[in-house]
Amino acid sequence: MRIAVDLVNTHRDGAELLAGPDDLRRFLLDHAEPEPVSVTGAELAKVRVLRQRLRAVFEAERDVDAAAILNALFAEHATRPYLSDHDGAPWHLHVSTMDADWGRSLAALTAMGLAVLVAGRGFGVLRRCAAAGCELVFVATTPGRVRRFCSPACATRTRVSSYRDRHRGGGGRTAGAQPAG
Ligand SMILES: [Zn+2]
Ligand SMILES: [Zn+2]
Repeated sequence: MRIAVDLVNTHRDGAELLAGPDDLRRFLLDHAEPEPVSVTGAELAKVRVLRQRLRAVFEAERDVDAAAILNALFAEHATRPYLSDHDGAPWHLHVSTMDADWGRSLAALTAMGLAVLVAGRGFGVLRRCAAAGCELVFVATTPGRVRRFCSPACATRTRVSSYRDRHRGGGGRTAGAQPAG
């Protein structure tokens, strides 16, 4: 679940955090993928496409559209789930084959993570920040309260700017403080 959110957030507000295969390699290691991890340019390209589809899950207006994206990812990339303790790792669930490339295995893994979450809590927990100019996605896991912003900073910024909009009576703009020369 965290890996799906973090992956979507590697591309937002005009920033590209997965500029090359090595960035994706580091991302995977940061998300507990065991060495050896190697990433090709072709795999990076596939993961970027996957990232767009995952973002659409968070931004979909209708649950049925978000579900269709996850189901398509399963159909295209997931295998029958199986338990493995390969290479001395603790028992864990695989939803793609051992020889799957990163495009496939990340698709299966992230779709599964989001689907399990949604099956328990509904699509409402998958959110995009409501602040203008912020494209971060997040999972609203705080029970009983609808969180609209990715961070306190975005919440404050939005509150301040809507206060300003309400109180803008003309002449309220700060004087241009452009340094001369
Ligand atoms: Zn494994
Ligand atoms: Zn935000």
